[in-house]
Amino acid sequence: RGHLACVGLGMMLGGHLSPRSQAFIEQADVVFVAASDALVELWVQAMRPDVRSLQPYYAEGKARRQTYREMAEAILAEVRAGRRVCAAFYGHPGVFAQVPHDVVTRARAEGFQAVMEPGISAEACLYADLGIDPGRYGCQHHEATQFLIYRRVIDPSAYLVLWQIGLVGDVECRRSRGLPAHLQLLVERLADHYPLEHEVIVYEAATTPLAEHRALRLRLHALLDTELSMHSTLVVPPAMPLAADPAMRDALARATAPST
Ligand code: SAH
Repeated sequence: RGHLACVGLGMMLGGHLSPRSQAFIEQADVVFVAASDALVELWVQAMRPDVRSLQPYYAEGKARRQTYREMAEAILAEVRAGRRVCAAFYGHPGVFAQVPHDVVTRARAEGFQAVMEPGISAEACLYADLGIDPGRYGCQHHEATQFLIYRRVIDPSAYLVLWQIGLVGDVECRRSRGLPAHLQLLVERLADHYPLEHEVIVYEAATTPLAEHRALRLRLHALLDTELSMHSTLVVPPAMPLAADPAMRDALARATAPST
C-alpha cells in the first residue's frame, strides 16, 4: 500500500534533521530530495545512494507552476505504484513550499496515508541568528511578489519578513533572478510605510556547519545596490512604537472587576 512522507531537512547540512525525518528517509522504498544546496543533496545521498533529485525539474524560462506539477506527478506516481515514498525538502516542507502540501493533500484524496514532518526553516534560523522574537512586536511574513501584486495591510509596528526577495516581481515565475526595476518597485511600496533611511536586514542562514550566517544591515534605499540571492530573506524591523488602545484596556479592566 502506497505511503507518503514529506519531511524537512532543516537548513544546515547534517545538523537539523529530526530523528523522525531521518527514519522516513532511511526506511522508504523511494526517496526524492529537493535541497537548496548541492552539498546538502550529497549529504542526503550519503544516507541513501538511490535518492532521486528533484532539482532537474527546474529550468530557466519554464513556468514554476509547470515545474511543481511535474515534481508532484513524479512523487505521486511512486505512491500510486504502492511504494513507501519519502520526499525530503530543505528547511520545513510546509513553509513557503507548494509541492509538499500539494502532494500530501492529493495522496490523501486518493486514499493513501500521507504525513508531513516539520523541519527547521529559514524562519526558525532567522529568529535565532538575528535575536528576534516574533512574539515581541508581532511578525508578518509574505512572499515578496505576492506582497507587491496584492494590497496587504502592513503594520509598521511589527516585524515584516519578505521571502523570495531575490525573485521579486517574477509574476510568471519563469526566471531564476529578480530584476533591479522590480526591486525598485518593492522599495517604493515599502517607502509608503517606512522611511527610506529605515534599517533593514538581508538575511541568509548558514547551510553548512563551517559557514556563517549572513546578516547585512542596510538602509531601505540601499537595497537597490545589494546583491540578493535565491536564499535571501528580507527582514524589516518595526519603524514605529505599538499604538495603545486605552478603550480596550478599560474594557478589560471593567470585565475583570468583581460585580458588586
Ligand atoms: N521551505 C523553506 C523555504 C523555501 S522558499 C524553509 O523552510 O525555509 C525559498 C525562500 O526561503 C528563499 O527565497 C528565501 O526567502 C528563504 N530561504 C531559503 N534559504 C535561505 C537561507 N539559507 N537563509 C535565509 N532564507 C532562506
